[in-house]
Amino acid sequence: MNLAISEIDGGVPPAAARTELLGLTRDELTAFAVAHGMRPFRGQQLGEWLYRHGASDFATMTNINGVDRARLAEVATISALTVRREERSSDGTRKFLFALADHRTVETVLIPEEERRTLCLSTQVGCAMGCGFCLTAQQGLERHLTAGEIVGQLLAVQRLTGERVTNAVFMGMGEPLHNFEQVVRAVQVLTDDRAIGLSARRVTVSTSGLVPRIHDLIAAKGVRFALAVSLNATTDAVRDALMPVNRRYPIRDLISALEAYSRERRDMGFVEYVLLGGVNDTVADAHRLATLLRRVRCKINLIPYNAVASAPYAPPAAEAVESFRQILLAQGYSVFVRKPRGQDIRAACGQLRQATG
Ligand code: SF4
Repeated sequence: MNLAISEIDGGVPPAAARTELLGLTRDELTAFAVAHGMRPFRGQQLGEWLYRHGASDFATMTNINGVDRARLAEVATISALTVRREERSSDGTRKFLFALADHRTVETVLIPEEERRTLCLSTQVGCAMGCGFCLTAQQGLERHLTAGEIVGQLLAVQRLTGERVTNAVFMGMGEPLHNFEQVVRAVQVLTDDRAIGLSARRVTVSTSGLVPRIHDLIAAKGVRFALAVSLNATTDAVRDALMPVNRRYPIRDLISALEAYSRERRDMGFVEYVLLGGVNDTVADAHRLATLLRRVRCKINLIPYNAVASAPYAPPAAEAVESFRQILLAQGYSVFVRKPRGQDIRAACGQLRQATG
């Protein structure tokens, strides 16, 4: 992370003693401003400079008077992520490698489509969940990202590309709900009209199945989002083998949590299902999935597996994907087959990991 505030003459506390503003919600910015002798509306102005304009230097905040700008520079910091590498896929997908303050790195993927620019955000350096088909899992968990580092990925991508992100999906490196507090804070900033201002329908939080945290998220006040559950199997035996989280929270509990989401939030959830050749892509799996979801209002995304070296799985046959889709369609489900994006730059699902250089 680069400290990007203007240099202040002597007497300024070290950065560690100052408050990092990026990642604070509007209410928190207001409380911060008041606590440092400023009028409450400074909080809103700070939010607009940070999240609308992507400002990283108090000197550029022209509607804040000089006294308050100097005060802010004494007591606060704004950290911006440093891009270390960018790769572009032949299909237009762009993958960014960002360096954090401690020199660890995370990857963020921008997927441009006709009317959308979807950003796949990372929430942790590595991941503790150990899913067998995922490269990030092989890294293990190094640390959680802060809300500022999560939101900072979006601000950095907008700064680098000069274009606004329209959709954010928490599907990059890490299990978002394992980093619950910081992810909730990031969602609040992303969906606040006076901060980044994405529609709640355009912010999707994905989980591998931390059931108690799903219920916490559903109950969280003032947090608007769409929920995606990464299911990937129709029997506990297969899911236990693919996703160790299932040994603690089996399929039945996970489906109940998704039901609770659609009931209490009055919204459709998403079921993500990575199709692994010969493992979970059979006709019997498709019928079991239809039965499992019969009481859940949801859309189903089928994701043909992207080959990852060192993982013992293969992509599904095209015919298997199509017959899986047809079975679900015949049962009345909304089903989409997600086209793999950015495979040539290892930006597709399950292909992200820490890298250097
Ligand atoms: S698929 Fe997601 S939850 Fe599972 S190991 Fe990979 S990053 Fe973690």
